[in-house]
Amino acid sequence: MTHFVPDIQYRSDDSSSQSSYGQTFDALWIAAHPDDAELTCGGSIAAMVQEGKRVAIVDCTRGELGSRGTPETRREEAIAASKVLGIGERWNLGIPDGDVTITPDHIQRIVVALRYFRPTLLLFPPNFDRHIDHEDVHRLVRKAHFASGLRKIETMFHGEAQAPFRPKRMFAYMQTYTIPADLYIDTSTTFEYKLRAMRAYSTQFHTEQKHIDDQEPQTFISRPEFV
Ligand SMILES: [Zn+2]
Repeated sequence: MTHFVPDIQYRSDDSSSQSSYGQTFDALWIAAHPDDAELTCGGSIAAMVQEGKRVAIVDCTRGELGSRGTPETRREEAIAASKVLGIGERWNLGIPDGDVTITPDHIQRIVVALRYFRPTLLLFPPNFDRHIDHEDVHRLVRKAHFASGLRKIETMFHGEAQAPFRPKRMFAYMQTYTIPADLYIDTSTTFEYKLRAMRAYSTQFHTEQKHIDDQEPQTFISRPEFV
C-alpha cells in the first residue's frame, strides 16, 4: 500500500509539531466536511483551547460536491476558522466527498492521523444523520480506532514508522439530529467564537456582508434563518 501524505492545512505558530512526528493532543475532532467541526462543536473546541488544551481538527473530504464554494475557497475558509478557534493543527485527508467508502486506504488515512495526534479524547460524527457522509465517517472512524491499536497494522508518517495508538475515550457529536447526550460542555463563554468561526466559511453560510448579487444556489445551511 502506498503511504498516505496528508494535506496539513494549518499549524499554529506556537505548535511544536514541526519538530517531531507523533504528538499528544488533548482532543481530536474528525469531521466529514470542512465547516462540520465548527458548525457542530465550535463552542466546545474554543472552550477547550481556552483552557489550555491542545486541539486538532481532521477533515476527511474537501467538500468538493458542495453546492456552494470550491475546494480552494473552502481550504482558505478552514484555515481562517482554525485561527479563530485557536487550534494547534488541521489536516485534510482528501477522501472523495460523497464517496466515503470503507476501504483499507481510507482506514489507513485515519489511522495515520490517530497515531500522529495521539488524542486523549476523540470526537467524531454520529451514526445516524441527514448526510450519509457523516454516517460513513462514523463507521470509518470506528474501524480506524480499532485498527490504530493493532501492532501489525503498519503506517508511516514522513518516512517514520508510527507506533500503535488508541484514544482513551470517543464521543459522537450531534450534527443535524438531536440525540440523547452523555457529555455536556458549557460553551456560554465561547459561543461567539463558534459564530465567528462559522462566518469564516463565507461561501457556506449567510452573512450580513454577503454580496447582494450572490448567484450561488441556496442550501440547507446557507439560508439566512439557518444561523
Ligand atoms: Zn458535513
